[in-house]
Parts: sequence; C-alpha cells; structure tokens
Amino acid sequence: MEGERGTLLAARTMIPFAGGPHFREGGILVREGRVVGVGGLEELRREYPDVPVRHFGERTIIPGAVNAHAHLGFRREDRPEGGSFSRWLGELIERLPEKETWTAEAARASAREAIEAGTTFMAESSPYGECLPQLAESGMAGFVYAEFFPGDFPDSTPEERVRAIVERVRELREGLPERVEAHVSVHAPYTVDPESSRLAARRTRELGWRLAIHLSESPEEVEFVRDGTGGLANIFGRNDWGGVGLSPVRYAERVELLAPHTIAAHLATGVSEEDVAVLARTGVAAAHCPRSNEYLGCGVSPVPRMMASGVRVGVGTDGLWSSPSMNLFEETLAAVRLHGFDGVLGLRLATYEGARALGVEGETGSLEAGKWADLAVVDVSPGEGVDPVREVLEAAAGGGVVATAVGGRFLHDRSGA
Ligand SMILES: [Zn+2]
Repeated sequence: MEGERGTLLAARTMIPFAGGPHFREGGILVREGRVVGVGGLEELRREYPDVPVRHFGERTIIPGAVNAHAHLGFRREDRPEGGSFSRWLGELIERLPEKETWTAEAARASAREAIEAGTTFMAESSPYGECLPQLAESGMAGFVYAEFFPGDFPDSTPEERVRAIVERVRELREGLPERVEAHVSVHAPYTVDPESSRLAARRTRELGWRLAIHLSESPEEVEFVRDGTGGLANIFGRNDWGGVGLSPVRYAERVELLAPHTIAAHLATGVSEEDVAVLARTGVAAAHCPRSNEYLGCGVSPVPRMMASGVRVGVGTDGLWSSPSMNLFEETLAAVRLHGFDGVLGLRLATYEGARALGVEGETGSLEAGKWADLAVVDVSPGEGVDPVREVLEAAAGGGVVATAVGGRFLHDRSGA
C-alpha cells in the first residue's frame, strides 16, 4: 500500500491516454487512490524526490479496461448452443431455476476473470441487480443495472412495476462502496412493455439515475417489433405489444428510452442510416459486443458509422453464455479486426471511450491528474514498429496483464515487481 506521500509507479513504457503522448521510462504518481502526476520518470523523480518508486520493468502501464456491457452471473462450462438468438434465449429461460443455485459463484468467477484481464470499471446488468454483491466485493468500480421483467408482476399496472424496481434500486444503493452504483435496466423491447419502458425512462431521468437497455440485437427482435411475429413473440408468456411497424431504434425513441443517460447494448441487427441519425440526435450511448453478436447470429454493428455520427461507443463482453471470456481487451481486439481499426483507436475504445459512453470519463478511462488510478500493467514493451499500441492491445488480449489496480489498489498482481 502507498504511504502518505504516495507511490511512483513506473515502467519501460507508459500510455496514459490512447492517442496522447507515450513515455519511455514513464511514471505515474498515485496518492490516495488518485493520479497526481504523469510523465517521464526522471522528471517525476526530480519533482517528488521523497516518493518511493515501484518499477514494473520491461512492461507497459495503460489505463484499466472499461467494460460497457457485461453480465456476471453465467458459467462458461454449460453455455447454450449459439447460432440462433431466440433458441439461445429460450434455453436460458428454461434453465433459470437451475441457474439460481450457482449465480453468485459464477458472478465471483466472472469478476475475477475480468480483473485478471485488466478490467477496472464494469457496467453489469442482472435481474433485479442480483450480481451487485459480487461486483461490490470484487473491488472493481462500476454500475449494476437492475433489470425488471413485467412478467414477474402479473395483474400489476406499469406504474406499480416501475415503482417496485425503483424501490429495489433504492435499497441496493444503501451501503455501497464509494465507486459502485446501482441503476435501472429496461431489459429489451420484447420483455418490457412500452408503457413500463416509458415510465422507467422518465423516472430514472427525474432521479438522475442511469439506464441500460438491450436494443436492436437480433433478427428476431427486429421482426417482433416490426411485425409482432417470430421467435421472440410469446417469450415470458405474453408480449402482445409487438408489430408496431417500426425498427427497434425508432420504437425505443417513441417510448422515450433514448437519451444521454441511457446506454444501449448491441445495436447489431437492422440499424439503418436513419436509425444512426436517431441515435446521434438523442445522445444515447452504445455498447458494442462483437463476439456475442457473432455467436448468436446477430450481424455486425455499424460502429464506424455510429462513431462518425457522434454516437459515444464503448465495448462490452456481455456474459459467458454468449461470449468466450470476460477479457475486455480481447473483445476489443475482435472489434479492431472486424472494423479495421488501428491499435490507438482500439485501446481508446477499451478505455476512454467506454468511460465516455457511461458518462464517467471525468473519473476513469485515462491516467490524468485528478482521476482515479485505474490501471493495468501489460507484459510487453513495444518497439517503434508500424502499430506499437496494437502490440500492447494484443498482449493484453492474450493474457499478458500482470497487474491491475483500481483506485491505486492492486487487486491482481503477478508482476513480481
Ligand atoms: Zn446483454
């Protein structure tokens, strides 16, 4: 642990912000969990001569990963077969009673895996916020979005349902660690009715809370919203509100879900040029989950078009039932390959852009004075090749994270330094 004067963390290479200057023999002064100074190690040493130095050797210090959309409560071993979104979801629903017995254990394991892969901030969604205890005890910073399912409230009005989830989140908010928050999720257009969606959006806006949704994920969702038919009609018993003749994005706009405090996961199938314009105009953020989309036959999100239109985009691993790992850098490398991005944009998507999508870029996502010292140490020191930042991203994606600190506190450390 750091003393009162703080600690100078140093490495052969230091990338405090993907896209900004890098440092050879770089350092970062951490005091009380926050970044105090960043730069060349020699200058920092001159400026702070009494501060102990911890040098990680021939490695690279980068900002920690920000996972913009994840589910903690799934086990890798028994994930349902992919290929079809509606069949996968059907199997998931069938297995919910069995899953209840091991959700907490799965959540702990998923959180651990994320931390060991350099994740320092996570936006998690789970039914009624059931994975909040595991996120909070993991030491990561983040949000848990509590999903609610109107099918669980038979014979209730939308007002009563929304009041129930708001009360639930109020309870969850009590006694949380400083950097963990609870918010609301309107799960998806095919599980939450239009009026409950609209009321939840209004209520969270009034309260200054945040909102997460799944949106335009699968071909079945597009069909359900437009025509009211297909594999997602009758999911959870009765969802008779489909068939409105709109794209999911237009539908979400109509029920007031799209706003700057909302993050929409996936946007993978059926997102038109006009939809991208709607996303940009409403200020909603997007979470891109390319490996989950591929596994479930959900197409390719138009990320370059969204970014060019000014939509904030982060990257999410989703959960282990649709994605092979909780490694956000690995997820981002998949996005880099899919869209032909360079390493700098890739590393920025995994860190700063994820923070911006979640509205926390003033606190994390880069190593700048005043922000939390959320960082990863990667076992690579890139040369001056064509794309040195991509080398770092590839190493982090491939299991090369040797240490992870959240607010200056090391939660994972096999660096030997
Ligand atoms: Zn999801």
